[in-house]
Amino acid sequence: MILYPNYYCENVTKITIDFLKEHNIKGLILDVDNTLIDIDRNLVSGVEKWHKEIRDAGIKTIILSNTNKKDKLDEVSKKLSLEYIGFAKKPLKGGFKKAKEKLGLKTENIAVVGDQIFTDVIGANISKMFSILVDPVAESDLWMTKWKRPIEKFIINKYLEKRKAK
Ligand SMILES: [Mg+2]
Repeated sequence: MILYPNYYCENVTKITIDFLKEHNIKGLILDVDNTLIDIDRNLVSGVEKWHKEIRDAGIKTIILSNTNKKDKLDEVSKKLSLEYIGFAKKPLKGGFKKAKEKLGLKTENIAVVGDQIFTDVIGANISKMFSILVDPVAESDLWMTKWKRPIEKFIINKYLEKRKAK
């Protein structure tokens, strides 16, 4: 199902090295807004430590964001010392392909992490990458993403019901 993530968790810091190794994931494509930072550009609590541990474990990371705010991406990329691709037009495949090339990894060894089904999850799924959905950090969303939330909640609930039934 193109709308369902392969995995769902509360936030990025809940993604463990063991989980990634278990699924043969060697690289992460990370979303920024509501995934790594909140609306005020604060990093999610624990992200710096989590990211360092992930890197130390040999897992590569890159940011893929739809934002065109270069100063915001510069700030996050500097804080976490990782590269970024902005203005990515997710869910279109182009950005994911570019990120994959930068990571230098095979599609099956890459996971995409983000808070939105319509950009991150669908983009990962059509790019045949492992999709990880996280809860959006801030409840006070940008107005553009706001209208999609009720639909996303509905899909997530369906997904969780299905997972429970397994
Ligand atoms: Mg986001």
